[in-house]
Amino acid sequence: MGEIRTSNLGYPRIGEKREWKKLLEAYWAGNVTEDDFFKTMKEYRLLGLKKQKEAGIDLIPVGDFSFYDHVLDHSTMFGLVPNRFDQVGEANRLETYFAIARGTKEAPASEMTKWFNTNYHYIVPELEDKKPKLVHNKPLEAYLEAKEELGIEGKPVLLGPFTFLKLSKGYQSNDFEQHLNDFIPIYIEILQQLEQAGVKWVQIDEPSLVKTLTNEEIRLFTSTYHKLKEAVPQLQVILQTYFDAVSFYEEIISLPVEAIGLDFVHGYDENIASLKEFGFPADKYLALGIIDGRNIWKENLQNIDKKLTEVTTVVPLEQLILQPSSSLLHVPVTLKHETKLDSLVLSALAFSDEKLVELSTVKHFATANAEEKAVVLEKNNQLFKQISSSDWRRNGVSESSERKTKRATSVKERQKVQNEKFQLPLLPTTTIGSFPQTKEVRKSRNLWRKGELTNEAYTTFVQEQIKKWIKIQEDLELDVFVHGEFERNDMVEFFGEKLGGFVFTQNGWVQSYGSRCVKPPVIFGDVQFLEEMTVAETVYAQSLTEKRVKGMLTGPVTILNWSFVRNDLTRQEVAYQIAEALIEEVEALEAAGIEMIQVDEPAIREGLPLKEKDWATYLNWAVEAFRISTATVKDSTQIHTHMCYSDFRTIIHSISDLDADVISIETSRSAGEIISTFETNVYDKGIGLGVYDIHSPRVPSVNEMTKVIERALEVLPQELFWVNPDCGLKTRGEEETVAALKNMVEAAKEIRVKS
Ligand code: GLN
Ligand code: ZN
Repeated sequence: MGEIRTSNLGYPRIGEKREWKKLLEAYWAGNVTEDDFFKTMKEYRLLGLKKQKEAGIDLIPVGDFSFYDHVLDHSTMFGLVPNRFDQVGEANRLETYFAIARGTKEAPASEMTKWFNTNYHYIVPELEDKKPKLVHNKPLEAYLEAKEELGIEGKPVLLGPFTFLKLSKGYQSNDFEQHLNDFIPIYIEILQQLEQAGVKWVQIDEPSLVKTLTNEEIRLFTSTYHKLKEAVPQLQVILQTYFDAVSFYEEIISLPVEAIGLDFVHGYDENIASLKEFGFPADKYLALGIIDGRNIWKENLQNIDKKLTEVTTVVPLEQLILQPSSSLLHVPVTLKHETKLDSLVLSALAFSDEKLVELSTVKHFATANAEEKAVVLEKNNQLFKQISSSDWRRNGVSESSERKTKRATSVKERQKVQNEKFQLPLLPTTTIGSFPQTKEVRKSRNLWRKGELTNEAYTTFVQEQIKKWIKIQEDLELDVFVHGEFERNDMVEFFGEKLGGFVFTQNGWVQSYGSRCVKPPVIFGDVQFLEEMTVAETVYAQSLTEKRVKGMLTGPVTILNWSFVRNDLTRQEVAYQIAEALIEEVEALEAAGIEMIQVDEPAIREGLPLKEKDWATYLNWAVEAFRISTATVKDSTQIHTHMCYSDFRTIIHSISDLDADVISIETSRSAGEIISTFETNVYDKGIGLGVYDIHSPRVPSVNEMTKVIERALEVLPQELFWVNPDCGLKTRGEEETVAALKNMVEAAKEIRVKS
């Protein structure tokens, strides 16, 4: 089969310093003409290709670049423009494209949702009544461009029909097969055009293959790929999976394609077990995902060497294509501009560009003789030794016997003590934590960060905000107060900056959705409590009122799921470290006289593994981590938690196991669903269903909210019920916030009178 090759599955589109984002936003603001937009986007696209070529990658992906989202690119390529955007007109493809992504005055945007278990959000395709047709061939255009402009023989990338349909909405699951059949001729058309243009390799992504599928689904999948391949006998197809192991290994390796792409980072144990049990066909390439496409750490060559040794007991080296485990879309672009990182930390990192170089290193390593190998390994070993023996990682993980994971008494007993103590009215009213982060608040924080505002002046400013909002809460007659989170930028970053073990990059951005990028904190060392993080503001707020002020923390699982996490420990171990640091903060709050403490966990559900069989393990340690972070408080200290979603159907038992005294969740957009969840499950703890949606500036009427409350009370015991908005109010304006809360308190009062 010739020489061993390297391949890349996708390259980040945002640019080294987010120039892609800036261009997009400038275009939307009307500051860039369409011509200039296309021209500059092309430069960015070609730059990415050039960099991959210079890194020595053999199979360079083309067609993965996007102006917004690659799934939306497929929808529009198939002519799937929802009817409500018809008035935007076929005349301008770009306008229509952005209208679907962002909405117009008349038509709401298409829904977006998380791309598998990543933090990337794609635009959900809507099938409606239109039959798909091929409007243009994006992978072909990209292939021709790369060839003409750079002489690159690119590998077009395409999202496969099965996954595309799985991600779409607007059809009944019974009709899946029929819809799939609509797409097959279109995919054939695309592939035939590629074949005619002389394309050698095409990558068809089918990440849905790593989810839990039925036998019927895999049968459909198989027949689809037989049809596709029959139509393009000359074209070499890489069927690409990622993010986990495939479940139907035997069926998948038997498909009529030239290469199978498997994730040997995230699905290693299962994929290697299948490989050993069922072998691998001699006439196919194994596209081996061996460099982590989801994390930012340099690879440990010893680890890679071990994997290669195992894999090559089944598949000879010449039959391998070496590649990242997934598209590099999920990692930042380059370390080139990181000028402020500790040199040890820097030496442990690899972003996209560095990963591509690593890939070439691995290729040479794999084919080197024993002597050469030993030299390279030794050098890499030294580095890892240095990292693991550094001060950053001195403490490791504590003994499990040292952890307290359970509160002293049951929720029933605690409720008695707490009711006695707090004497709250029926249906107590509260908020979720943050109050509006006005321009003024953000400006002061920025000035302070730049050193243009002294610590004292900034503290005074924050205190003024707290004071103002304590007064507002008094006037509103809310029952349980919050301090308002004015000192916080982001609910994870804020804690990361104060805990030990975290580092922050300057340019470690990844695309979250559209032009929006996030810069996740990096958990590099042992997470440690260093100093009180929230006590001063909370205690200050409490000093201003007789009402209880809730302490406000971000939970261990959310901090974990929204960070880049070191990979020499398990995620569970890191979650426990965070929890052990947080319980110190909880205890400090309690010691300072704070009697209600909320530990937010909005990211618990999104951390669920892709395969249902792995859920229980994850949920067990996630719940345990939360409990570690809250277990040692007195019976009379009330633990709250908050989650910004309401679909608990599959995880209600875990939510209950958190053993928080009160949980607040979103409802307003899906009251029915929630209520049915709680109807069928005994949830014996306090619960606040969000009685209004904070995601819009609209002020809900009293009547609207009494209806939501009454509906909830049909299934929930009124003594357990709390009244609150469905999330934090930091994105809202002051005026609408006060007006909405006024109505909310009024609604609670009306119902109290009736009960
Ligand atoms: N306490 C946080 C806030 O009010 C919770 C945010 C969230 O749920 N994402 O902003
Ligand atoms: Zn929320």
